[in-house]
Amino acid sequence: METKHSRRVWLVTGASRGIGAEIASAALDAGERVVATARDPKRVTERFGSSDSVLPVALDVTNDSSISAAVGAAIAHFGHIDVLVNNAGFGVIGAIEETPGDVVRSVFETNVFGLLAVTRAVLPHMRKRRSGHVLNLSSLGGYRSGPAFGIYCSTKFAVEAISEALHDEVAPLGIAVTIIEPGYFRTEFLESKSVVETKDIGDYADTVGKVRDFAKDVSQKQPGDPKRLARAVVDVVNAKHPPLRLALGADCVEAIEEKNAFVEQELAAWRSLSTSTDFPKSSGSPTTR
Ligand code: NDP
Repeated sequence: METKHSRRVWLVTGASRGIGAEIASAALDAGERVVATARDPKRVTERFGSSDSVLPVALDVTNDSSISAAVGAAIAHFGHIDVLVNNAGFGVIGAIEETPGDVVRSVFETNVFGLLAVTRAVLPHMRKRRSGHVLNLSSLGGYRSGPAFGIYCSTKFAVEAISEALHDEVAPLGIAVTIIEPGYFRTEFLESKSVVETKDIGDYADTVGKVRDFAKDVSQKQPGDPKRLARAVVDVVNAKHPPLRLALGADCVEAIEEKNAFVEQELAAWRSLSTSTDFPKSSGSPTTR
């Protein structure tokens, strides 16, 4: 694989545990410098100790003043940020009807608005240097939605849309954007300390209920290894031409293939009706995207 330079400065959100902690750790193992941020930075200090390479910083992605203080501290300490990993996030398990508005708003606050706020705070520093790499944690659920995960997936679909646009906006400014799409990885993501479970409406027992049971059964038996994921993220940051999307885990690759085949088949089956709604070519309509 072709590689770029080394000893970059990474800023990782949600580095207290799970995927964020593993990414921070893999970056440090690769000789990089890391601003390891967490709502409680003591957790980061406990995990990574103190060294010249790691700066533990408090950062709650739902709090604007905490974001600007954290980015300010990173710049003051290391001078710049090369790699931003927008990792902080959590899941919600429940049917669309079962999920109250305040839960929907809170998961969007973290997974979408938080990611946007951190990105807005870091980009000026990357633009100034015409260099950088933003990695946004999406999910298998950012590509394919399904029962019980509709609200969570809607946040990750938003991350995908934001990232696709951002990719094209900042590429001419020397900044790369990669969407990381993990399948099921063995972290605390499905444990009660992370995931929010909504009330249970009996009518959804055969759809949402089954996924609820599956989530309980699979927790701590997920096929994905967060350490291997973290090493893959380091590889992608080292790549000379990083991808827009990186699916991680065989389950994720399979889900994407299934969805692509379904979309292709459905588009072909309905092509005639789909293409019947334009004005006739002679009516001079402008070209759209
Ligand atoms: P964990 O539940 O193990 O860790 C979640 C992390 O996010 C914790 O560090 C937590 O901090 C942090 N966090 C949550 N809210 C905030 C906030 N407001 N500000 C700062 N940090 C916050 O989950 P994972 O490590 O598995 O998940 C990491 C990312 O990966 C998420 O975006 C998730 O959606 C995504 N993902 C995970 C998959 C999986 O199977 N594990 C699959 C697909 C995507 P604290 O310790 O303070 O709670």
